[in-house]
Amino acid sequence: MEPETDIETTLLGPVLPNRACGDCTMCCTVLKKPGGVPCVHLGSHGCSIHAVRPTICRTWFCAWRRVASMPEEARPDRSGLLVSLNFNREPQNCFEGVSINVRAVAGSGAIDKTIAAVILDSVCDQLVPVWFSDGSRKMLMHPEQDVASLVLSGAPAPAHLHEEVAAWRERYGVFTSNG
Ligand code: SF4
Ligand code: SF4
Repeated sequence: MEPETDIETTLLGPVLPNRACGDCTMCCTVLKKPGGVPCVHLGSHGCSIHAVRPTICRTWFCAWRRVASMPEEARPDRSGLLVSLNFNREPQNCFEGVSINVRAVAGSGAIDKTIAAVILDSVCDQLVPVWFSDGSRKMLMHPEQDVASLVLSGAPAPAHLHEEVAAWRERYGVFTSNG
């Protein structure tokens, strides 16, 4: 098994047996490089080489296929939000290396704030950074800004944030302040 598949199972959970992609093909377009350009094998009825599609297409699943607390309406083609792990090999700080990325899919129209909130709630519950991106900007959603600033600066944390800041620092092991 690929190492990154192991991380995905650890952080997002195993692929749920009762979830299927159905008509969704979001990852065949959004995650391609360059992003937003559909895979050449993507046809009007889905993958035209389904039986012989590459291993990555057989083994990779977005967070909706793994996180049970995401409702049916959170399926990427319905919600316009594609949630997946993101690996940055040149991170600028500890929140960028391995994180969960909630992408607003271009052309999906206005994002329903209710389902967006449900999706964010379902992934902002552990010591894994969560970013929201819409193609032009990228914002850190979890931890909240005041906690993130303290984790990054190493400054002492106020009492009400002490535990949370200490937990992030311990998890990422890059700061030594007692905070
Ligand atoms: S984005 Fe998720 S639900 Fe949609 S096709 Fe890809 S893995 Fe399936
Ligand atoms: S090969 Fe098929 S499953 Fe893989 S990205 Fe292309 S269209 Fe999607």
